[in-house]
Amino acid sequence: MPRTLKTLEDARVSGQELVAICLQLQCRHRWPVDLPKVIHYVGGAHSLWPMRGQRHFSERMRCPACNSKGVHIWMGVPKTPQPLIGGLPYAVENRDVGNEVLVSVIAQVRHISVAHAAFEAAVLAYPGRRVSLTEGAFVLRDSRFIVLPGGKAGA
Ligand SMILES: [Zn+2]
Repeated sequence: MPRTLKTLEDARVSGQELVAICLQLQCRHRWPVDLPKVIHYVGGAHSLWPMRGQRHFSERMRCPACNSKGVHIWMGVPKTPQPLIGGLPYAVENRDVGNEVLVSVIAQVRHISVAHAAFEAAVLAYPGRRVSLTEGAFVLRDSRFIVLPGGKAGA
């Protein structure tokens, strides 16, 4: 997903819905912009924002209710809302004990409580493996540093 939406193609790729609202005060009809159709006519590189010296696609659009030309464009609610950073923030990972290479991702979860429970379950399910709970680049928990009852370090 592009971090900033600059062009019609950016809006299409990110699933950003655009809403057209008729410029006529007496009308103000609103409808969702058919992005693939607009891109077909003006191209995906067309700027989302009006630019000096350039005709904007919203000036060409015609209101289906009153047939007058020109609309306001508003951002609608994204069809597929996504968090700004990644998808699921917490991961339970199975790493090679020797060289720390990632062997597999055991679980990916959204909530920290579920992440801790998944980590604890994974430590029991993969004895002898190095299991870690990560949030992005941060290692929150590591099975090498679990202190077992009796004072022995876990492995
Ligand atoms: Zn209208």
